[in-house]
Amino acid sequence: MKRTLCAVSLCITASAFGQTAPATPSTDPPMLGIQWARGFDPFARGDARRSPNMTYHGGKIMPTANTKAIFWGTSWPSDTSDKMSGIDSFYTGFSNSNYAKTSDEYTGSNGQVGALTSYTGHLLDSSQATGGGNTSAILAEVCKMITSPDTSGNGYYPVYTDVPRGNAGYCAWHSAGTCNGQLVQFAFFFKLDGDSGCDPQDTSGLHSQGLAALANVSAHELSEARSDPANPGAWYDSQGQENGDKCAWTFNVPLVTFSNSVQWKLQGEWSNAAYNNGTGYPNSKGQKGCLDGH
Ligand SMILES: [Zn+2]
Repeated sequence: MKRTLCAVSLCITASAFGQTAPATPSTDPPMLGIQWARGFDPFARGDARRSPNMTYHGGKIMPTANTKAIFWGTSWPSDTSDKMSGIDSFYTGFSNSNYAKTSDEYTGSNGQVGALTSYTGHLLDSSQATGGGNTSAILAEVCKMITSPDTSGNGYYPVYTDVPRGNAGYCAWHSAGTCNGQLVQFAFFFKLDGDSGCDPQDTSGLHSQGLAALANVSAHELSEARSDPANPGAWYDSQGQENGDKCAWTFNVPLVTFSNSVQWKLQGEWSNAAYNNGTGYPNSKGQKGCLDGH
């Protein structure tokens, strides 16, 4: 979701749920693409008479996403779970997957979202991580770790912290900022182990619960960054919802297969074309515009 577009009454609704995002100081980059936890969507009651489709707002899209993940927190060096290797596998297999192609209908002032992304592995920072309430702190971490950001403006740096969500109403978000004048896209993720509010309930046994949860929200944020990387915005609907928001917490098939044959339980992404053609699966409002490329 785009915080900056949120109407006052809706912001009040959101803060009544204990969400910290509205308090973001204006000096912070805008917190975009917030993935609300299950049951926390402040826009759940939409106007059924309005087209649910997203419209174009004049900005750039990401033709590709040159990705490097950052694992931030004191617990990562001794982490023996499948999360770090699993996230590496996720971003590697995302490129050229049918899932990646669910966003390729979107165009911007700089071209069209493409199916190809790249992944150059992860970095580890064992210093104490912060939570997601302050975008500047996450941007500072990106700038600290990424000493030579991608000069195309298509660098995407997801930050995986070891901070539990607590009572924050969201699971993750994406935003944009600059490191030494270079535009970077970045995202924040809580640790989602044992967090039922941010859990896709993957019962495949292929991944730990914590990894499966991170993969689902990673798909959401990356798809939003590609179709609406911000400043100025590209694709979102009349309520500020981006393609991931519009299909959050709805799953079409048990598992989606990536280009490296690794399978994940992932929410779909909104497609205007699928909605118009009646070929998508329904979101939580029953609107048939979600695609997962299965
Ligand atoms: Zn979102």
